[in-house]
Amino acid sequence: MWTIQPRGLGDLLEALRNRGYRVVGPVVRDGAICYEDLGSIEDLALAWLDEQEPGNYRLTGSGNGDLFSYSPGAHTWKKFLHKPSVTLWRATKDQKGLHLKEEPTAEGKVALFGARPCELAAIAIQDRVFLEGPFVDSFYAAARKEMFVVALNCSHPSKSCFCVSMKTGPRAATGFDLCLTEIHPNGEAELVVEVGSETGGLILADLQRREATEKDLEAVRKTLEEAEQRVERSLDTEGIQGLFDRSFESPQWDDVARRCLGCANCTMVCPTCFCTTVVESSDLAGAEATRTRIWDSCFTKDFTYIHGGSVRPSGYSRYRQWITHKLANWIEQFGTSGCVGCGRCITWCPVGIDITAEVEALRARERTGSGSGGSSHEGNA
Ligand code: SF4
Ligand code: SF4
Repeated sequence: MWTIQPRGLGDLLEALRNRGYRVVGPVVRDGAICYEDLGSIEDLALAWLDEQEPGNYRLTGSGNGDLFSYSPGAHTWKKFLHKPSVTLWRATKDQKGLHLKEEPTAEGKVALFGARPCELAAIAIQDRVFLEGPFVDSFYAAARKEMFVVALNCSHPSKSCFCVSMKTGPRAATGFDLCLTEIHPNGEAELVVEVGSETGGLILADLQRREATEKDLEAVRKTLEEAEQRVERSLDTEGIQGLFDRSFESPQWDDVARRCLGCANCTMVCPTCFCTTVVESSDLAGAEATRTRIWDSCFTKDFTYIHGGSVRPSGYSRYRQWITHKLANWIEQFGTSGCVGCGRCITWCPVGIDITAEVEALRARERTGSGSGGSSHEGNA
């Protein structure tokens, strides 16, 4: 382990750029933490404090000397890996006929700067989905191939976070090239750096650093222990697949459907949600057509539209599908939960629907015997 000064962050950025990486990381835009290109250290979001709770997000200056006192905002790293819009192919027509052109998948080298432990867990989940199943997503594979990850251990969990329940934070165990932890040994910020890969070691060798002392490592342990204790929210995952099996007709789905707007925010901000649809468009002259893959959501009616109508026409069935897949069926499908406890779906739900509270409500209905068969809903749709 090594220790660098805050000014070393600029050197780290520079070292990555010198090695050909496009560096992306947290910036402040429109009053929120967003993940965008870091042209220089001045772009990096430093000394900001966020307030998050169900349906609420606010960013203010930290004013306490801390560099990273915010947790993730609405953006996720998936926008660089599983992109919101991908052109699959283009076709052009001229006098010689129809010409089909597949879009190239090649990507430049990208460095993610400041990925939180829960976000590394989300990337690992998407790796499983896109790379480790029977079908490899060539666009994801190309973006992932030369990715460098600078992780940032979490010292300021928000009120929406529940990474401890999902065993994804606040300390990153794997999935990074370099991992930083902010400490304040003498009142001033310093960053302890853990090396996670050979490339990480080479990049670190470019920086001014000193070997971390036992006191530094103790400060890291203390910081992360305190962060863990500050995580207020929790989700009881014990026997969760059985809970959802038994709750298929729970009146809770009616309850949540009355509140849910079907806006799909929760799926757009989720770092693991991966649903897409394919749209085709052509120019007015009929000379060029494009097939594009874009993010979609199980909260839209069109997502399950098949001949004759939507399979899930009600908010009842759509919310049930989302949470059941995320927390239970995902385990069967991919061997892992689909939730990393980042809390985004809680913060960015406009009506403050809280995934942890919905699970607790299902459990409470079981305890009180009102867990199934009481729905006023007609059928399961
Ligand atoms: S379901 Fe919610 S808390 Fe879980 S990973 Fe997705 S956005 Fe984060
Ligand atoms: S749960 Fe909230 S964020 Fe998700 S679709 Fe319903 S209203 Fe929108």
